[in-house]
Amino acid sequence: MQEALLTVDGLKKSYGAAEVLKGISFDLKRGETLSLIGPSGSGKSTCLRCLNFLERPDAGDIVVEGKRIGRIGDRFMNDRELAPQRREIAMVFQLFYLWPHLTVLDNVALAPMKAAGMSRAEAYELAGQMLEKVHLAHKAKEYPERLSGGQQQRVAIARALAQKPKLILFDEPTSALDPELVGEVLGVIRELADEGRSMILVTHEVRFARDVADRVIFMDGGYVVEQGRARDVICRPQHERTRAFLGQIGEGAAESAP
Ligand code: ADP
Ligand code: MG
Repeated sequence: MQEALLTVDGLKKSYGAAEVLKGISFDLKRGETLSLIGPSGSGKSTCLRCLNFLERPDAGDIVVEGKRIGRIGDRFMNDRELAPQRREIAMVFQLFYLWPHLTVLDNVALAPMKAAGMSRAEAYELAGQMLEKVHLAHKAKEYPERLSGGQQQRVAIARALAQKPKLILFDEPTSALDPELVGEVLGVIRELADEGRSMILVTHEVRFARDVADRVIFMDGGYVVEQGRARDVICRPQHERTRAFLGQIGEGAAESAP
């Protein structure tokens, strides 16, 4: 029996009168890759942002290794109290947000030094190792603007790894990239999945989700419509809305998938 790393129970979030998350529940086992798919506006980003309290949920519990995220008893944590929890849940966004005036190596070493209080020597050694992991050790001394979008996103992944997170959240990490650069980023994510990282990946790359994720959640309109093993949800969706979505994005349904 694998123990749940993350449990999300009854997550709700509204912006004004608009209820964007209407009670989301799922869990993630240690070492599992979960992919979150669904139409634009269905609440995927909001869900990820709630997991590390970049957005404060209106209701529901988020529990990592038995500890509630963002709350102490009945009150919400302040930013200082949240900081160590946030470090355990790294996030990789569509846009990379690298510091333009810092080298690639400095970008990766910064957070471990500033946020985690690591010594300079330790942080730089770790940063070098993480750049090797994303196959960019040879770019350590370059500035971000000299790198392609795919390389910049791999630096952002190295930066996330340098947090030594328990869980990595990816929000459409390849959506801002030119098509020819998508593969190198997905390649790195696949390697992380293969080495047993715990990850949640929001993506439109449904084939990739089918091949790399252990499980897939299909969200629509703030609800989890369907979840299950990746191949089951993507190749044999049970719900009409899942079928319609997969059809719209050109992934057909059961028949077309191997
Ligand atoms: P997805 O990532 O699935 O495309 P989002 O979580 O970004 O969906 O958005 C879900 C809905 O919430 C959308 O209708 C969006 O306009 C709305 N929304 C997201 N963030 C905010 C915000 N900060 N303020 C108001 N509305 C928001
Ligand atoms: Mg989004």
